[in-house]
Amino acid sequence: MKQIDSSAVKVWMVGSIGIDDIQTRTADRKNLMGGSLPYGTVASSFSAKTGAVGVVGSDFPVAFDKRLQSFGIDLQGIQRKTGPTFRWACKYDDNMIERTTLLTELGVFAEFMPELPASFRHAPYVLLGNIQPELQLHVLKQAVGARFVALDTMNLWIEIAQPALRKVIRRVDLVTLNDGEARMLTGKWNLCACAETILKMGPKFVVIKKGEHGALLVSHKGIFIVPAYPVRKLVDPTGAGDSYAGAFMGYLARAGRVTDGVMREALIFASAVASFGVEGFSLDRFERLSSADIKTRVDELKRMVAI
Ligand code: AMP
Repeated sequence: MKQIDSSAVKVWMVGSIGIDDIQTRTADRKNLMGGSLPYGTVASSFSAKTGAVGVVGSDFPVAFDKRLQSFGIDLQGIQRKTGPTFRWACKYDDNMIERTTLLTELGVFAEFMPELPASFRHAPYVLLGNIQPELQLHVLKQAVGARFVALDTMNLWIEIAQPALRKVIRRVDLVTLNDGEARMLTGKWNLCACAETILKMGPKFVVIKKGEHGALLVSHKGIFIVPAYPVRKLVDPTGAGDSYAGAFMGYLARAGRVTDGVMREALIFASAVASFGVEGFSLDRFERLSSADIKTRVDELKRMVAI
């Protein structure tokens, strides 16, 4: 895909980056590039110059760096430490929704202290990926130019670091989480009630993802329902939420403004991009993706919901 020109970083993301082993009913793939950061930054890079903030160990393959660079990602925010890179392994159930984590080895990620390169500090769009909330806050404080901040999280932080997580949530514009996480964070079952409770915590927008059933965007103005693209060949759902969030932020950065209309367009765009991501392992499908492919899917999605 044609890359965005190498001007100043418009979006940066902090998150995990590592090496994944993934088993599905039909495949067993080892040593894939994984973590929230590759999925999120690459999905954002389709629309805007994107920077990555993370940590890798001495065993991180040079080929992975090259892969990210081929998407035009600015890697100045990736720290290189002595020690093993973060590793994760999982096995998907036949339904390709539920999965069992087989291994989590934090390696150098355990001591991660994100620092924002000077050239990222004035970037207007920020995506805080699924790292410890204290670290999200630490890096956010360095983002002097941030105009729109989105936060993604995971069940682990809701369980073990909720006070810190709520502190970051107060300072962001948008929170994105899946239905289970929204219920866990709020103690409510109905998703509209969950979203309203999260809005009371501070952000202007909440996106609740419901996997293959799409997502809800909720603000004080109301609810927008975003469909998921019906994928015919689901290969690996890993990272879909990260791709979704990244594509969304990239779209906002390209638009350069946040209006209700732009938010809706951004969510449809994100839904289309994320649907490509799950058609391959790791970044495989993104490597063969053109702007025309994305546009075709965006148009299809819009037709599917038109009345
Ligand atoms: P998702 O499918 O959105 O849950 O994202 C999966 C990615 O998150 C995988 O590529 C993993 O490498 C990464 N991951 C798994 N567990 C963690 C964790 N505890 N902290 C950060 N990243 C993780």
